[in-house]
Amino acid sequence: MVERYLAPTTLDEALKALAAGDATIVAGGTDVMPQSQAGRFKLGRTLVNIRRVAGLQGGAKEGDEIRLGALTTISQLREDAFIAKTLPVLAEAADHFASVQIRNMGTLGGNIGNASPAGDTLVPLLVLDAVVELRSAKGMRRLRLDEFFTGPGKTKRTPDELITNIFVPAPKPGFVARFAKFGTRPALDISAVSVGIAGIVKDGKISNVRVAYGAVAPTPVRGRAAEAALEGKTLDAATLAAAAKAAQGEVKPISDRRATAWYRREMIHNLVKKVLADVAHG
Ligand SMILES: Cc1cc2nc3c(=O)[nH]c(=O)nc-3n(C[C@H](O)[C@H](O)[C@H](O)COP(=O)(O)OP(=O)(O)OC[C@H]3O[C@@H](n4cnc5c(N)ncnc54)[C@H](O)[C@@H]3O)c2cc1C
Repeated sequence: MVERYLAPTTLDEALKALAAGDATIVAGGTDVMPQSQAGRFKLGRTLVNIRRVAGLQGGAKEGDEIRLGALTTISQLREDAFIAKTLPVLAEAADHFASVQIRNMGTLGGNIGNASPAGDTLVPLLVLDAVVELRSAKGMRRLRLDEFFTGPGKTKRTPDELITNIFVPAPKPGFVARFAKFGTRPALDISAVSVGIAGIVKDGKISNVRVAYGAVAPTPVRGRAAEAALEGKTLDAATLAAAAKAAQGEVKPISDRRATAWYRREMIHNLVKKVLADVAHG
């Protein structure tokens, strides 16, 4: 039962509210509110609306990294000129994300905090090699995103920690990252499967390959077999076919109302080919 509503404007105030215990963080509320109303999410005694906390919006280059504030909205991923130019794969994901209203409210930190296996920014962030910055009243730590999720709706975040920023390495020359999702409807749908692929493309060959899949496991996952099938290879029809086969063989999806396990494996095969063709063309 909610007893208190707080809307801190500074990070210190927000962290103090979380340190007091039994608090639920609300950013855009697009997951928290519908899920709590449906009885799938138990709210704490204190609601901490972090929306007005200063300094957690937008992107910036900091040394060899790009920092993305946790309160960056999905709309900003599409519309912010710096993010769209530096990390266009996030704009690509945002372009296929829900409706304009949800994009305006929903945040990057909320998409990570919600930890859905189908979260649409998570697959691009995995192939961008993202690291999550967590802060609490006790201090700060960073966790690799590919080690952050522990199950559907579950992460290594402790209840007193706030996701404050996401860091990704600044893209090197030749770096390409692409994303595609497939839902049961052509628009406004949660992913039934999604695929992200990144690497450095030079003279038709791909290196430093990262592949990730959404909605085929309890968490978004890296595609190590597909990565091995691609590393150092020329992006020709044979390589695309080998990578797609490796991807199809390594995913272990479940059947649910969005798709059967068989269909998801078929779609992973096809989406890997499609995304690789996009990567090959830059
Ligand atoms: C109609 C509809 C369509 C949708 N379509 C899509 C879609 O296409 N793709 C997709 O990926 N998602 C979709 N979603 C889900 C949702 O919009 C996204 O997950 C969104 O990014 C959540 O952001 P938020 O700021 O609203 O999170 P909130 O609802 O505020 O929070 C989500 C979770 O994260 C926690 N949290 C939020 N911010 C932080 C933080 N900074 N630090 C730690 N924990 C935090 C909250 O406590 C909560 O557990 C949809 C939702 C709806 C209602």
